[in-house]
Amino acid sequence: MECKTHVATTLALGLPLLAVSHEVTAVNVGILALGSLLPDIDHPSSYLGRRHKIMSSVTNKTLGHRGATHSIFGLVLFFVISTFIQHHYLSGDTLNLPFWLSFGYLCHLLEDSLSQQGVRWCWPLFRKKRKKRKKVFYYRTSTMSEYLILVLVLAILIFEISLYLKGDFNYPHMQEVVTWCQQKVHNLQSIINNIT
Ligand SMILES: [Zn+2]
Repeated sequence: MECKTHVATTLALGLPLLAVSHEVTAVNVGILALGSLLPDIDHPSSYLGRRHKIMSSVTNKTLGHRGATHSIFGLVLFFVISTFIQHHYLSGDTLNLPFWLSFGYLCHLLEDSLSQQGVRWCWPLFRKKRKKRKKVFYYRTSTMSEYLILVLVLAILIFEISLYLKGDFNYPHMQEVVTWCQQKVHNLQSIINNIT
C-alpha cells in the first residue's frame, strides 16, 4: 500500500476514536499518520525510507521488506521507544502519544494484511512466506484495487470530518472503550518507565 493510502485509511479509522475521546489535535493526527508510515521504514523507496536512507537500507538488507517492522515485534519495539521518549523528553500532557502512534502502526499492519503479499505478524517465528492467497479479499499495491480503496476511505474521511465539524461525534460506549484501552496502555507505559 502506498503512503497516501496508509495515511488516509488510518485517519479514517482513527478520527472517530480521537473525536469521541476529545483528543483531535494537530499533534495527535500527525502522530497517527506517522505511526501509519513507520513500518515501511524497511523499504528504501517508501515515504520515510527516502528521507532516512541509511536506516531504511540497513533494515531492508538485514530484515527484508515486511520483516520485523511488519510484525508484533516491531509494534512492541516502537511502542517501547515512543514510551521512553515521551517519558524522558516530553511533557505529561503527551502521555497518550505512544497510544496513538501504536494505533497508527497497528492500522498499517492490518492494512498490509489485506494485500496480496500479506504480513508475517509472528516474525521471526514463521520465516517462510505464505503462498499467494486465492479467492479471498485482497488488493495489490499500486494497482486499481488500491486506488479504489483510496477513493472509498477518502469519501469516508470527508464524511467523518463533516460529522466532527458539526459536533455529531458523540458515542459514549466508544469513548468508554477508548478510555479503557488507554488505561491499559498507561499501565504498560508505567512498567516500561520503571524498567528504563
Ligand atoms: Zn507496509
